[in-house]
Amino acid sequence: MPSLPRLQAIERILSRPPVPVEPSAELQELWARDVFSLDKMKSALPKAVFKSLQRTITEGGKLDTSVADVVAQAMKDWATSRGALYYAHVFYPLTNLTAEKHDGFISPQGDGKAITEFTGKLLVQGEPDGSSFPNGGIRSTFEARGYTAWDVTSPAWLMETPNGVTLCIPTVFVSWTGEALDKKTPLLRSNAAMNRQAQRLLRLLGEVEIAPVNSSCGAEQEYFLVDSALTALRPDLQLAGRTLFGAPPAKGQQFDDHYFGAIPERVQVFMQDVEQQLYKLGIPAKTRHNEVAPGQFEIAPFHEAANVATDHQQLIMTVLKATAKKHGFTCLLHEKPFAGVNGSGKHVNWSIGNATQGNLLDPGHTPHENLQFLLFCGAVIRGVHTFGPLMRAAIATASNDHRLGANEAPPAIISVYLGSQLEDVFSQIQSGKLEGSAQAALMSLGVDTLPELAKDPGDRNRTSPFAFTGNRFEFRAVGSGQSVAGPLVVLNTILADSIQWIVDQLEAQLNAGAPLEEAAFAVLKRTMDDHGAVVFGGDGYSEEWHRMAVEQRGLENLRTSADALPVLQRPAVRELFEHQGVLSAVELESRYEVYAEQYILAIEVEAKLVLRIARSQVYPAAIAYLERLSQAVRNQEALGLNPDRSLAQQVATLSQQLLEGCHDLERTMQHSSGDASAHLRHCADALLPRMLSIRGTVDGLEQLIDDALWPLPSYQEMLFMR
Ligand code: ADP
Ligand code: MG
Repeated sequence: MPSLPRLQAIERILSRPPVPVEPSAELQELWARDVFSLDKMKSALPKAVFKSLQRTITEGGKLDTSVADVVAQAMKDWATSRGALYYAHVFYPLTNLTAEKHDGFISPQGDGKAITEFTGKLLVQGEPDGSSFPNGGIRSTFEARGYTAWDVTSPAWLMETPNGVTLCIPTVFVSWTGEALDKKTPLLRSNAAMNRQAQRLLRLLGEVEIAPVNSSCGAEQEYFLVDSALTALRPDLQLAGRTLFGAPPAKGQQFDDHYFGAIPERVQVFMQDVEQQLYKLGIPAKTRHNEVAPGQFEIAPFHEAANVATDHQQLIMTVLKATAKKHGFTCLLHEKPFAGVNGSGKHVNWSIGNATQGNLLDPGHTPHENLQFLLFCGAVIRGVHTFGPLMRAAIATASNDHRLGANEAPPAIISVYLGSQLEDVFSQIQSGKLEGSAQAALMSLGVDTLPELAKDPGDRNRTSPFAFTGNRFEFRAVGSGQSVAGPLVVLNTILADSIQWIVDQLEAQLNAGAPLEEAAFAVLKRTMDDHGAVVFGGDGYSEEWHRMAVEQRGLENLRTSADALPVLQRPAVRELFEHQGVLSAVELESRYEVYAEQYILAIEVEAKLVLRIARSQVYPAAIAYLERLSQAVRNQEALGLNPDRSLAQQVATLSQQLLEGCHDLERTMQHSSGDASAHLRHCADALLPRMLSIRGTVDGLEQLIDDALWPLPSYQEMLFMR
């Protein structure tokens, strides 16, 4: 009998050697080799042109057409010298993916010859047909034009594939009426909004020279590697990115022997390959290690300006996936590929700062810096309390729902962890203990309680969705497969709103004659009175917190995306985005529609897969086994024995249950849906529980049926074989 494809796959894996990679080159040699960096521009461009470009990059504003022409020429010369024949405007549609429109540099001439050509106009603006990207009804197909425009603040790079070299230009993607169809445009706008308000606050605090304030992001990317011989036999992993079935292995992560353990050889070779590619792209990959679950790993680049970090994040995901393939792995970026095993997140470390005042979320050493820090930190607290549900909505995907609130991942309730020292400072402010004369308030604020805030508080809270970690906040609830743009847009925008509120309050008090420190103290006290409920230092996984958060503190527990996405339709959220100039009402509504549709699509695809796999792979295996069991029973009877029928009965019962479950799911899928939010609810409340119940049946069968008949690679094989 020919053995099952599954068993053949296992044999292949056992004899796989690691894929050889180029010997690692010197970092100096690799670093940013494929990036048209400021450095390269400086040496390639006339001084005046470079200066003008640099000004646009650091201070914003439009790029001069004559400058664009010169830059385009230099960029093309560099790219073609490296073998590029094509350039691509790269943009980030609302799907979390990266899209590219490729064009040749070639320009045919009248005399039958061809030259390469690239003008400022082609560099600065492109016109991909946007109709196939989700836009939530902003454009109807007859006006499907979309424009891409170069984002000068993010450098161009070369993408090398077996198909050749392409010059990639990071762009924004907007409709012909100017609406943002992508994730980059709102990110740039949110940064500008945050900068406007931060400038006001710094000026009010007496600063004179204030460079533009920018947000920074360092995102830790978790992922799984599974041998591709096994994923090829799992339609669920291939199409949905997660296993819809699979009984738990006898050994899971309970021994904690994987975390920070030795990295397996094949994986080490893979990581080295990834890092070399990232270095060439100027992406500062810094840490790598095993994660908690078997087969799970992490890569974290050093933090960069949020906009650049976001582009780099997208590239990291692309490189991880492509390189995994080369090494015989599939890289899973899904948030919960395996039930009962740790999920994958993308911790977004976020701070704001500028060239003159430095990191504005750094407590600093002096009282003066403390005051500045406390106001910015207070603004974050207010922002998270006022718009926690929006933060939840920004991380709402069908896949991340499986992770949030599971017992190893942050809860769906958004709270802030400050660390015990800072929590104490803020609760003192709230209790008014520091109150006194204006002078005393300053002294207490600055010197007595805050001589020096520890930068790296020893107590890290891994159960909080949003934690202060010494000089930045870490948004830990973000999903591993997500673009970081959405979460960053929300963080920047709610911060802008809260700084604006704080500055308005301060100005009113100062105008009424209050001294600065007294006014600041009063505003901070009010901030804590109104918003302190969002600060929580305890165990975010506990039942008690889930109860307390909702019942006593009035925080929302938006368990599923069906609960969270409608937050985007709340009037307060619409006002926030409109007021800060980040998203218009139409742009926001379109995002709700697109994200709702993606949620629905994801679950409907999974439901179809459940039916397909259950009926065409699992049921036949169960019936084949039942046949053999029945034969065994007959044989035993023929020998005059009294056979034990319990196993056959169990398999028969589960098989019957399987068919019934499938009929029920299929009927439920046909249930016609009303509007988007009714459809969301239907997926969350009717489809998912039925899929889960079928899973229970299948996993039961997996534990009974002859291993040599089971068609799907098991958890043990996928998690432990590499
Ligand atoms: P941990 O696993 O302990 O949370 P890592 O060292 O893996 O920490 O990752 C920390 C991430 O935070 C890195 O990407 C780092 O560059 C980033 N980071 C450090 N300081 C800042 C900052 N001021 N702003 C934004 N990100 C930062
Ligand atoms: Mg972290």
